[in-house]
Amino acid sequence: MILSSRVKKLKPYVPGEQPKDRIYIKLNANENPYPPSPFVQNAVLDFVKNHPEKLGLYPDPDSNELHAAIADMLNKSGGVLCRAKTNADGSVEPSEEDKIPFTVTPQMIYTGNGSDEVLSMVFYAFFDSSKRFVMPEFTYSFYPVYAGYYDIPTDCVPLKEDWSLDTDEMLTRAAKNNSGIIFANPNAPTGLGLTREQVRQMLKKASSDEIFIVDEAYVDFGGESCIPLLAEFNNLVIVRTFSKSLCGAGQRLGYLVSNPELVNTITTVKNCVNHFPIDAVAQVSGKAACEDVAYYADTSRKVAEEREKFYNFLQSKGFYVLKSQTNFLFAKHPEISGADLYKKIKEQGLLIRHFATPGIEDFVRITIGTPEQMEQLMSAIDNII
Ligand SMILES: *Cc1c(COP(=O)(O)O)cnc(C)c1O
Repeated sequence: MILSSRVKKLKPYVPGEQPKDRIYIKLNANENPYPPSPFVQNAVLDFVKNHPEKLGLYPDPDSNELHAAIADMLNKSGGVLCRAKTNADGSVEPSEEDKIPFTVTPQMIYTGNGSDEVLSMVFYAFFDSSKRFVMPEFTYSFYPVYAGYYDIPTDCVPLKEDWSLDTDEMLTRAAKNNSGIIFANPNAPTGLGLTREQVRQMLKKASSDEIFIVDEAYVDFGGESCIPLLAEFNNLVIVRTFSKSLCGAGQRLGYLVSNPELVNTITTVKNCVNHFPIDAVAQVSGKAACEDVAYYADTSRKVAEEREKFYNFLQSKGFYVLKSQTNFLFAKHPEISGADLYKKIKEQGLLIRHFATPGIEDFVRITIGTPEQMEQLMSAIDNII
C-alpha cells in the first residue's frame, strides 16, 4: 500500500477553469480586471534590476515591512476600499462609517502565500478533529477541502430562503458542538453580506473560548469590515486577500488581522510548515500595492459601479439576481438552466462560473470585468435571451 489512508480520502478544490485552447474573456474566477498599481510594476522592476543578489538570499521570514504596509493601508482605507475617500492631495482616509476606532499595528497582521494558505494555517491552529466546526452550507468551497485534508468534521448550516446566512442556527450549532465558526462576509457565491452589527451580535452570543473566523475576501467592494470588532473580541480572526480588490491574484498574497496573541500562534504553525511562505518579490510587490491606496480605492469603486449597472441589466432581462456587495453577481433565469447559459456564453468567447452543486445548480456566478468586457457579455446575453 503506497498511499496513506489520508490521501485516498482527499477531495481537492476545483478552481475556475483556465483554458489554453483559445483566448476567453475570463469572468469566472473573481479576478480583478485591472492591473496592479504602477507602484507595483516599478517596485518589481527595481527589485529585479537593482537588487538581483536578494533573489539568492532567503527573504525576511516574518515579512515585517509588508506587515507594516498592510496595517497602514487598513488604517487609511478603514478596510473598505470602495468607500474610502481620496483627497485632492492623493491621500486617502476612511469613510465615516468605516473608521477603525484604534490603530491596526503590524503585530496584528500575519501573511501567507494567498489567503488559501492562511486559511490552511487557521484550520490547523483552531479547529479540532474531535469537534464539528460550523460553516454555511454554501460558502467558499475551499473550507470543506481543508476540513477533509486535516480530518476535521464539519457542521454545514443551510442558508435561509433569501440565501442569507442563518446566523441563529449557526450559533445554536456552535454552542451544541462546543466549536468554532467560519464564514465569508460578504459570502460567496451569493455575494450577500452581514452588517458589522449583525456580526457583533453573533460574537456576543458565541462562546469567547471558540474561534470565530470571518473571511473578508470581497469586503472592499461594498461590505462592512469586522476589523473594528477586534477591539471587543479576542476570539475573532479576519482573513483577507490581495487577489480580489488589490488586483494581485498572481502575487499569491493573503493575510489575517487578529490580536497579536493569535497572530503568534499562527506564526508558530507556519514555522512548522514553511518558514518562508512569502518570497522576496511578493514582499516587495505587496508593500508597493499597500502604498497606493488611492489607486485601489478607485479600481474598487469602478468595479462596484459596473456591478450595479450589470445588476440592472440582468434584472431587465428577467434574471433573479442577488444584491451583491462583491465583485461578482449570482443570478439565475427562469427560462434557461445555469449549465446551458454557461455553455452558450462560452461559445461566444466569455467564461463565467457554473457550479453543478445541487441546490445552486440553476445559478451562474459572473465576475465583474471592465466596462468593455461587460459590454461584450451583455451583447452575448442579448443573443441568448
Ligand atoms: C478568492 C477567495 C479566497 C482566496 O484567495 P487567495 O487567492 O488564495 O488569496 C479566500 N476566500 C474567499 C471567500 C475567496 O473568494
